[in-house]
Amino acid sequence: MKDTFKHHGMRQQLVEILINKDIKDKNVLKAIGKIPRHLFMDSGFIDHAYQDKAFPIAADQTISQPYTVAFQSELLQITPEDKVLEIGTGSGYQTAVLLELGAKVYSIERQKELYKKTSTFLPKIGYRAKQLIFGDGYKGLPEEAPFQSIIVTAGAPYVPNPLLSQLAIGGRLVIPVGDKVQVMTLFIRKGPKEFEKHEFGDFRFVPMLEDKN
Ligand code: SAH
Repeated sequence: MKDTFKHHGMRQQLVEILINKDIKDKNVLKAIGKIPRHLFMDSGFIDHAYQDKAFPIAADQTISQPYTVAFQSELLQITPEDKVLEIGTGSGYQTAVLLELGAKVYSIERQKELYKKTSTFLPKIGYRAKQLIFGDGYKGLPEEAPFQSIIVTAGAPYVPNPLLSQLAIGGRLVIPVGDKVQVMTLFIRKGPKEFEKHEFGDFRFVPMLEDKN
């Protein structure tokens, strides 16, 4: 598992592409410039790792497009030590970005194969989440709530109530909502029962699925 000068150069080009697409958060750009995305992909696809594209990983899932990862990460406005819940661990790439931003990360994945693969892979390259969980993201993680931020990295047909209720006051939920196409949606919890909602255009994700292990 090598990270060479060439990979480093390709990453800087990717960062330039993201800047041109209007990603502004310096810490997010720095994280993407640092994380060896090629190691998160199956070896056959390594040459594609630094294109701004989603790519197939195991279990018919995808590693999100870098632009999408950057866009969602920017909306979360993470500060170091924030407790963050991620739904859809997948390859662990978004998890690594959250860790680079200094978050304490809890991440849930419902595909056992991916859960197992990513649980061994992330610590191998030095990324330690607080907890990687094999389970159903629709339920969130009540035993560790409240969270400062919650990020959903699969297309949600609706906004699961447990996720809203597990947000801290002032906390932010970033979730793509919709069936075939998803609208990137940000909820900010203003009070026990008050949420502010903002929408940010269309994205495409693999679907968030219920009741499958
Ligand atoms: N963040 C990932 C994106 C993976 S794609 C990455 O950067 O690689 C979305 C992931 O969400 C898939 O791994 C899929 O298995 C998972 N997923 C789908 N429904 C889920 C659910 N209900 N709970 C937890 N994870 C789910």
